[in-house]
Amino acid sequence: MNRDSAVLEELIDLRCKQLKLPGLRASYRELAREALEKGVAPSEFLLSCLEQELASRHRRRLEARLRAARFPQPKTLQEFDFDAIPQLPKARVLQLAQAGFVAARENVICLGPSGTGKTHIATALGMAAIEAGYRVRFIRAVTLAQELLAAHQEVQLNRYLKGWARFDLVICDELGYLRLGPGAPLFFQFVAERHETGSLIVTSNLEFSRWEEVFGDAALTTALLDRITHRAHILVFKGESYRFRDTQRWRQEVSQ
Ligand code: ADP
Ligand code: MG
Repeated sequence: MNRDSAVLEELIDLRCKQLKLPGLRASYRELAREALEKGVAPSEFLLSCLEQELASRHRRRLEARLRAARFPQPKTLQEFDFDAIPQLPKARVLQLAQAGFVAARENVICLGPSGTGKTHIATALGMAAIEAGYRVRFIRAVTLAQELLAAHQEVQLNRYLKGWARFDLVICDELGYLRLGPGAPLFFQFVAERHETGSLIVTSNLEFSRWEEVFGDAALTTALLDRITHRAHILVFKGESYRFRDTQRWRQEVSQ
């Protein structure tokens, strides 16, 4: 490399920084070498540079949204073994992964015993929705109820509820393991507000007839179910725990 091109590259790096074009900065050298080798026209070279910058912005936005979603663990549909739970309608799940339900502000409810893959599918649908360009946030039902109570006590409930409006899809995991107590009416308010603003995925180990145990009030539970199940896709997870099967398999392997 002669000195002129070294100076030029330094200047290009500097300009990229000033203009906040990190994708272009990372890729232009390689693209320029290729263009020289293959005799690519200057305008075509410029287009490739711009497209690299766009692609890198897209990647960074996805990464930021994945972090903001706070999934406990990343999970994808590719990793999900549908054969292990044949009653789960695979085609419907794949259809939901197209994220049309988010655009239509519909809900998804995953019901079934522990370890059957509800959190896995809910997370995978959330990740697919992020890929499709939506904002997603994952939260456990108990944490949500605690945050709602804290906001209520600090007279910040309205502001707290509004904070959720920026998410196109909220995943509320593990409803049913603990009673929500004084958080129940606030949870209802959250669901009612959500009904107006965006999609909700709820996972629960309890069938609907037992949700009253979580909310502790028949009228409240009916009103809540009315909202949640309106325009909802209900996925029923029947079968034995995948964790348990995994442990059994592992025991067999280590005892051999
Ligand atoms: P649940 O939320 O219903 O209690 P999880 O989704 O947390 O169950 O599943 C428990 C563990 O087993 C997770 O690590 C999950 O990735 C895995 N798992 C469950 N079902 C399947 C499946 N059908 N294929 C692959 N992994 C599965
Ligand atoms: Mg779970």
